[in-house]
Parts: sequence; C-alpha cells; structure tokens
Amino acid sequence: MDNRTATTILIPMTYDSDVIIVGGGLNGPSLALALAGAGVSVSLIDGRPPRARAQVAFDGRAYAIAQASKRLLDMIGIWAAVKDVCQPLEGVKAADGRPGETVAPLFLHFDSAEMHDGPLGYMLEDRHLYRVLLDAMEARPEIKLHHDLRLTQLNSDPAGVSVTLSNGEQVRGKLLIGADGRGSTVAERAGISREGWDYGQTALVAAIDHVRPHNGIAHQLFMPTGPLAVLPLKGNRSSIVWSETRANAQAISALTDDEFMSVLRPRFGDFLGEISLAGPRFSYPLSLTLARKYVVPRIALVGDAAHGVHPIAGQGLNLGLRDVGALAETVVDAVRRGEDIGAIDVLERYESWRRFDSTSLALGMDTVNKLFSNDNPILRAGRDLGMGIVQALPQLRRGFMRQASGLSGPLPRLQQGKPL
Ligand SMILES: Cc1cc2nc3c(=O)[nH]c(=O)nc-3n(C[C@H](O)[C@H](O)[C@H](O)COP(=O)(O)OP(=O)(O)OC[C@H]3O[C@@H](n4cnc5c(N)ncnc54)[C@H](O)[C@@H]3O)c2cc1C
Repeated sequence: MDNRTATTILIPMTYDSDVIIVGGGLNGPSLALALAGAGVSVSLIDGRPPRARAQVAFDGRAYAIAQASKRLLDMIGIWAAVKDVCQPLEGVKAADGRPGETVAPLFLHFDSAEMHDGPLGYMLEDRHLYRVLLDAMEARPEIKLHHDLRLTQLNSDPAGVSVTLSNGEQVRGKLLIGADGRGSTVAERAGISREGWDYGQTALVAAIDHVRPHNGIAHQLFMPTGPLAVLPLKGNRSSIVWSETRANAQAISALTDDEFMSVLRPRFGDFLGEISLAGPRFSYPLSLTLARKYVVPRIALVGDAAHGVHPIAGQGLNLGLRDVGALAETVVDAVRRGEDIGAIDVLERYESWRRFDSTSLALGMDTVNKLFSNDNPILRAGRDLGMGIVQALPQLRRGFMRQASGLSGPLPRLQQGKPL
C-alpha cells in the first residue's frame, strides 16, 4: 500500500452565474439579454463606467442594422425602444469616383422595393443602441453588472471558470464569453492567437447636416484612396465613414472643421445640397483581425473579439449579432439537454456554425476594399464592368440584397424572429 499523502485539489462547484461575459459594448449586452430571456444567469463585466458610451456623440458611429439583426433585437426585447430613432434604409447606390468629379454615370442601385420585404436595413446610432441595451440589462434580475472593472486574471478548471477583476473581486461561472473587442484580453489569456493585417487606412467618421432629403438612400462612393460611405440618419442628416490612407487621414484630422469641410465637399458632390458638420469628428485606424479559434474548453469568443473586419459593407456588428444568436441557441439547447455548457463539444457546435461564415465575409470585404481602394485603370474598368453587370441583372442584385440583409445561410432562431 502506498503511504504517500494524496493531494486533493478542491474545485468549487458553486457559481455566481451560469455565464460570465467580459465586454459590455454591443455584442456582450445583446448576448446577456438573449441568455437571460431563456433563464440563463449572467455576470457582465466591462472596463468602462456604464453610461459613458451613451453620451451624445460618444464615438459618432451609426450602424446599418440588417433585417436579420433587427429580428434578433426584437426577440431580445429592445427593438420597440429603438425603432423611432432608426432611419429605414430604402436603398444603396454605389459609384466609382474621384474627388471633384461628379458621381460616375455608371452606378449600382440596390432598391428595397425589389425585395418586397420592407427596408434593406435600418441606420441606428451607437449611443441610442447602447443606452437601450444598458437599460434593458439593468431591468433583468438574471443579469449582474460589474462596470468600471477590468478582467485581470482568469483560471479555468474541469468544472468552471473563475475571473479576477481589477478591484480584486472574483466571479465564477460555468462558461466565460469574450465579447471584449478587437484586442480581446479573454482571447489572449486563453492562449488564442490572432491573424490579420493593417489596412494602412483610417476611417474618418462624422455626422453631416444637408439641405436636401436623403430619402433613406445610402451612398458608397469608391475613391482611389478608400471608400466614402454616406449613411442616412433621421432627418436631413447623414453619417459619413470616409476611409483614407493613414497619412492622408492624419493630415485631414489635423484640419479645422472649416478646412475639413472644404476637403470633403469635392468628394461628396452636391447630390444632398449644401452640407455642414453636425458634431465632432472621430477616426478609427482600420485592420483585419481574426481569432484562430473561437472556443477552448469553458471559453468562447463573440463579435469583434472573434473577428474585426473592414467597415466597407457595414457588416461588423451584424456578424457579431449572428454569433450572439448562434451562441445563445447553442447554450440554451445544451442547458435543456442537461449538458455542461462549458464543455468543448458543446462549444465546438457554435464554432463550426460561425467560423466559416465570419472568415469568408471578412476576406470578402478585404478583397472588395483592395479592388476599390485604388486608381489602377485596369481595375477601374473591371469594377465598373462588374457593377454594370450586377446593375443589369435583377436576379443577381436581389441575391446581393438578401446576403446584405443577413437572410441567407443557416440562420439562428433569434435571427428568424423565433424565440430560443
Ligand atoms: C468606422 C466604423 C464603422 C462601422 N460601421 C458599421 C456598420 O454600419 N454596421 C455594422 O454592423 N458594423 C459596423 N462597424 C463595426 C462595429 O462597430 C463593431 O463590429 C462592433 O461595435 C463590435 O462590438 P463588440 O461589442 O464586439 O466590441 P466593442 O464595441 O469593441 O466592445 C468591447 C467592450 O469590451 C470592453 N473591454 C475590453 N477589454 C476589457 C477588459 N479586459 N475587461 C473588461 N472590459 C473590457 C470595452 O470597454 C468595450 O466596452 C463599424 C466599425 C467602424 C470602425
């Protein structure tokens, strides 16, 4: 008989919540609400004070919310609170251009009327969406909020995962979700590496007032140094996402507001009449970042923590909300079957559902950006021909619109407008 003393490691079997989410941006709160609505308890941790992001013009961003994402927002109970501040997107016009030129005669027009399915999507400002998500989380007893606290340590074991916060507090759950954005600390601490590259471009973001109505039409103007998107907001106001080479963007950011407008006007053209700046200007360096794995035992990534893409087609948040729908469904189904929600075989169902879709969209956006962000005459001729072909073929155009609405592929139940 061996008389050595056996060492027993005590694994705590009690949990503060079923799920811990690190990241209270947009995807983290959406997932918390989806899970809470199905009876799964959540602790949500975010490094910022709770209301900072809801302040007017916090980061100037507005999102093109696809139809499928709208259904998810409806199912998690927040659509009613944002629908009045949304601008329905009735069409998208894309054209090749150069500063000072009028918009090219050959353009592509995606018109919602061709779909017979309502608007193509909805423009929604970050500050409104974030505030409504926060209000909804505060009203749910299943969600414990830990704001203004950062994750400093994480330890996972066969029965659960424990995280330490910047105030020394410990939180334990069965599953940890990293919704902590492009520089995900959760991914890093879980040993998940990333791949990707810098685009050498920066997006300049601002809101613009204009004299003529936009009629719910978004414009994508492909300039040699990067695309300029003009996205309709409520009233005679639009949000611009103007991608420029990093050096140009730095120089433009340093301009006064008046100088900025005099550089913007020739790119913008006069299709909306006289334009003026409606608020502060923001800039975002653009890069592609893809996590090599979305899951390891007890840990899963969603949203930008899993895939940060180029904003050229306004799909980043929509992709993240697809993760939210797929992961919420995977977790809730596992709970109903009596499975361990942190077990790797459960989490791999989520990964195999989402990883291919996100990676192919990220690389697709990458190609579109490379193809359109230059002035090579051969590529210009090729892309004009491509736009002309799509414009001439309604069937193909409808296919693109369905894709952009997020209505193709294996949709999570929440994206189908069905409860979990
Ligand atoms: C210029 C631009 C325009 C865009 N336009 C569109 C569009 O039209 N449509 C669209 O669908 N998408 C768009 N996107 C993409 C969209 O903004 C992102 O995909 C989305 O905001 C990502 O949300 P998230 O919740 O995953 O991450 P984030 O919003 O980055 O949130 C991450 C959160 O994690 C917290 N956090 C990070 N680390 C820690 C830590 N260690 N501890 C605690 N908390 C932590 C942060 O405080 C933050 O609140 C655009 C992006 C850009 C740059």
